[in-house]
Amino acid sequence: MPEILNRGDIHAFKNEVLALIGQDASRCIQCGKCSSGCPIAYEMEHLPSQILRFIQLNMRDKALASNTIWLCAVCETCTVRCPESIDIAGIMDALRKICRREGVMPGDKKIAKFNEIFLNSIRGNGRVYELGLVMKYNMATAQPFKDALLGPVMFGKGKLKVAPDKVQDIAPVKAAFSKAKTFIAPKAKE
Ligand code: SF4
Ligand code: SF4
Repeated sequence: MPEILNRGDIHAFKNEVLALIGQDASRCIQCGKCSSGCPIAYEMEHLPSQILRFIQLNMRDKALASNTIWLCAVCETCTVRCPESIDIAGIMDALRKICRREGVMPGDKKIAKFNEIFLNSIRGNGRVYELGLVMKYNMATAQPFKDALLGPVMFGKGKLKVAPDKVQDIAPVKAAFSKAKTFIAPKAKE
């Protein structure tokens, strides 16, 4: 039986997103402009417009299980293209927060691992340390030589640095992570 028919309040998920980020997915007219402009769409399990449709149809589990919300790079191309002025990038971010809060991880564990290493890099340095990110990710996913041939090219172009380039004042970054922790902490049992 379709998921939508098993739910009492068919607007529950749409209202949850609305309360979280102030974006009303019911305004989406399914024009597809967000999906056609998304630079990551070819890798996504579902197109951005499909995620909006899942929200409209109260298909919460389907939306939260999609790798789309983790692959989204928050480039905001979709947001600026939307004729209904819906902040799709913001919605993707809100869905990731719900996942973190409820412990819902993407089916492909590599995505979760990349996300964790990426955020730890920001937390420690205030910005991404690319070389450390690649090395940790490759080791954690048991593919130590992945993209190894690209390393010398990127060093040559000055795109990779041997040591992390830390921001001067890490305190605001730490404060932001600390604030985010309170949001994604599991909900107390009611
Ligand atoms: S913000 Fe995310 S969903 Fe939107 S275009 Fe960029 S990558 Fe795609
Ligand atoms: S661009 Fe806006 S209205 Fe069009 S499908 Fe995407 S979210 Fe819906």
